[in-house]
Amino acid sequence: MKKIIAAVLCLVLVLACVGMTSCKSAAEKQSVDAIKKAGVLTMYTNAEFPPFEYMKGTEVKGVDVDIAQAIADKLGVELEIKNVKFDTIIGSIQSGKGSIGAAGITVTEERKESVDFSIEYTTSKQYIIVPTDSTVAKIEDLAGMKIGVQLGTTGDFIITDEINGYESDGEQQKGVLQDTGASVVTYNSAADAAIALNSGKIGAVVIDKLPAEIVAGNYDNLKAIELVYADGSNTEESYAICVAKGNESLLKVINEVIEELKASGKIDEFIITHTGAAS
Ligand code: GLN
Repeated sequence: MKKIIAAVLCLVLVLACVGMTSCKSAAEKQSVDAIKKAGVLTMYTNAEFPPFEYMKGTEVKGVDVDIAQAIADKLGVELEIKNVKFDTIIGSIQSGKGSIGAAGITVTEERKESVDFSIEYTTSKQYIIVPTDSTVAKIEDLAGMKIGVQLGTTGDFIITDEINGYESDGEQQKGVLQDTGASVVTYNSAADAAIALNSGKIGAVVIDKLPAEIVAGNYDNLKAIELVYADGSNTEESYAICVAKGNESLLKVINEVIEELKASGKIDEFIITHTGAAS
């Protein structure tokens, strides 16, 4: 009797599962077929990162929006934009809630464990925002300072590693800001970090190049300089669009669109237009 009940329960569970979309993998939920059927491509972003995404009135605008619109056009569907906190984007794509993550997202080995990335559409570097009269010229000069970053970004990872130390090739490395009294302060946006910097609550902000230049440009007494190390090295990052792991059909379309936009000079054009509009 127990066996029969167990078997019936099992069958009920299997049937319920088949009927529920949640049993589909994230890649299946957001496949090209599924997107075309729904008529919507859902982009997850964080509109606090000009010129890649920023608010203009009630609308999200930016380079990533233009790229996503080109992808939606290619698929013949509407583009829907979800404006969320940056550090939740990867999770929403990983789970299949959204079709694409497009938010000036840097490709990192760690993120590659959660999502798949398109080909890169542009590159960037980390920058340091400091008061205009500051003598800071390299990352080591941030010793002892409170350093503002946007939560969950590459700027956050670099500063946290340099303060706490990090592992490289299986060996523990000392960070250049370790034991200097430097600390990291996280914000939801570079703009919020700049407000804190302007009021003297923190000594510097570390964020990607173009947002750093635009945010610093909003203040007479702030400047943005490239983040370099005392040994002359710097940071180099590539931005790409992410999809759920294994979503090959969508990745193929995205890569085709990026190839076309790069070849026709459109990405550079989007960057120039939105840098002007967001400044
Ligand atoms: N490129 C950075 C990162 O991927 C910052 C992106 C952002 O803040 N939108 O972490």
